[in-house]
Amino acid sequence: GDLDLDESAEAAEERERAAAAAAAKSEFEKLQADRALLPMYPYRDQLLAAVEAHQIVIIVGETGSGKTTQIPQYLHEAGYSKLGKIGCTQPRRVAAMSVAARVAQEVGCKLGNEVGYSIRFEDCTSDKTVLKYMTDGMLLREFLGEPDLASYSVMMVDEAHERTLHTDVLFGLVKDIARFRPDLKLLISSATLDAEKFSEYFDYAPIFRIPGRRYPVDIFYTKAPEADYLHAAVVQTLTIHVNQPRGDVLIFLTGQEEIEACEELLKQKTRGMGSKMGELIIAPIYANLPSDLQAKIFEPTPPGARKVVIATNIAETSLTIDGIRYVIDPGFVKQNSYNPRSGMESLMVTPVSKASAQQRAGRAGRTAPGMCFRLYTAWSFQHELDDNTIPEIQRTNLGNVVLMLKSLGINDLMNFDFMDPPPTQTLFRALEQLYALGALNDRGELTKLGRRMAEFPLDPMLAKTIIASEEYKCSEEIATVCAMVSVGGAVFYRPKDKAVHADNAHNNFHRGAVGDHIALLNVFNGWAESNFSTQWCYENFVQVRSMKRARDVREQLLGLMDRVEVQLVSNPGDHDAVRKAVCAGYFYHTARRQKTDSYRTVKNPQTVDIHPSSGLREVLPRWVVYHELVLTSKEFMRTVSEIKPGWLVEIAPHLYSKKELDDPSARKMPKGQGRAAMVA
Ligand code: ADP
Ligand code: MG
Repeated sequence: GDLDLDESAEAAEERERAAAAAAAKSEFEKLQADRALLPMYPYRDQLLAAVEAHQIVIIVGETGSGKTTQIPQYLHEAGYSKLGKIGCTQPRRVAAMSVAARVAQEVGCKLGNEVGYSIRFEDCTSDKTVLKYMTDGMLLREFLGEPDLASYSVMMVDEAHERTLHTDVLFGLVKDIARFRPDLKLLISSATLDAEKFSEYFDYAPIFRIPGRRYPVDIFYTKAPEADYLHAAVVQTLTIHVNQPRGDVLIFLTGQEEIEACEELLKQKTRGMGSKMGELIIAPIYANLPSDLQAKIFEPTPPGARKVVIATNIAETSLTIDGIRYVIDPGFVKQNSYNPRSGMESLMVTPVSKASAQQRAGRAGRTAPGMCFRLYTAWSFQHELDDNTIPEIQRTNLGNVVLMLKSLGINDLMNFDFMDPPPTQTLFRALEQLYALGALNDRGELTKLGRRMAEFPLDPMLAKTIIASEEYKCSEEIATVCAMVSVGGAVFYRPKDKAVHADNAHNNFHRGAVGDHIALLNVFNGWAESNFSTQWCYENFVQVRSMKRARDVREQLLGLMDRVEVQLVSNPGDHDAVRKAVCAGYFYHTARRQKTDSYRTVKNPQTVDIHPSSGLREVLPRWVVYHELVLTSKEFMRTVSEIKPGWLVEIAPHLYSKKELDDPSARKMPKGQGRAAMVA
């Protein structure tokens, strides 16, 4: 009897194995069939011929044509990967990850083997990787180690129309290396039709246009402006759900917080709906969403249900979600803005451009006719929206990029081949700040310190903080603080129904702390002491995900610190040392309290307030250093610590005099001009 049983168990196992293999095979076959349905597919051979014949090709095609997922595969299948890696850049990390995951499936390999991705603080590639998706910022960093991109046979600069800062800088670099690497193929791909500008810039490279398939999209406007677009978006979604035939909904919001609020509101409103209404499946997507949840937006909607994707701008062109019939567009995006005169930079919610609004509407008409609901008036669209989005290079701080270019030996930035040059004043401001940080000497050349700073994939101010921390004997603590401020996404969690508990838990981290930097250090150390326990995070209302990411980032920072020989030293409890190290990098980001209880930034005076999320929001110390400014209803300083003005004189004597900081009358005297002269 026993023998028989054994045999049948084995047979069953074998049967299961065979079934799984067949399922996998048919899954694989289905993916191949899907590939053949993409608009790109009929032009495969013509594209390969164009790439064969020309070193640089500009590719234009509607979102969803298959540019990102298919072209690198075609080149791989045609044998280019035998000559070197095929690289493909993406402006967004989520897109790089998600597209790489999809292509790995289509190729039939494990992600990180033949197909991989590389984003800041996360390298999912191996020696086997031949198709590499990466953020544009990561490719820029690769230039530091491999200035001729020798390990690549093809580089595709994708989503070129997005004109992110890093993509714009890449244009200049790849154009340059194409001249002395005739074997390197260069593809520049874009989702918008005006590709002439790219062609012209790349010495009149040929344009390959993939004929689009697109269904009509009806556009609806509101009759009057919406006071609360979040609420309006939720109401619109429910109206669609009740009145319109099947088809998924895509809502464009500006960031994680809004998306989570919208998700919450939708769940609340549908809770009472009877079972007659189809299920509403809510799928959020934004930069810090963990990868296991990212896949949800691509899952097919079951019959009878309706999917609502709530996305940031990432769904505008970077990711294509099949099945969207309805787009809801409140008309806003979060953008950085920079004032080179004052050196102030901030993130703010801004109206989109007409071009952006048109792209968003297009997402509704990919597979069938669709509808787009703009939550603003037709008049607004006509008269208030700019035609195009200003390239990021013209509205951001260039400190990081200038440091990187200097490390690449590119000294004459005024004559760098920018497609659209940044304002001269912005370049000057970056040079001046790098000089003040000690990264450049007075001839504008990279110093030894600057070279070490450039090794860190961080803002120069943060890099300087890390290197300076050795001197203040707190490099161990600063590695933690830098990791915590770099994770993006919130650390603290405050559910509405447990707000009091959450506040109590959070106050513990601030107790005795002299600012948010130390509080963040306390959070990490508390978690580490609990042996990185998830339970600990729940009990303390701290986001597990952010913490895990901070731990990873910290590990990488420690590795980089080892490489540039920053000694690991620690003096637990010396909070002054930590704050001095922060000041050593952030001496430009200081503010003094006014009589009104608002703050005035010390350099380039501007009125700012402490962000409501800060532990110092009620303490209001006289002098503070802040990590960043965010502009919402007001200009807020986020992540703030108390400092002593004497530290500034000690740390940055070239910028701060005792007299200026002590004597209120000395502060009134220079009317902008005087102060600017002193900075220069
Ligand atoms: P393009 O770059 O031209 O906008 P893509 O190559 O990104 O087009 O998309 C081609 C197809 O691949 C689309 O139908 C899209 O839905 C699908 N796709 C892309 N990424 C994923 C993913 N992570 N999961 C499932 N499908 C995906
Ligand atoms: Mg794409």
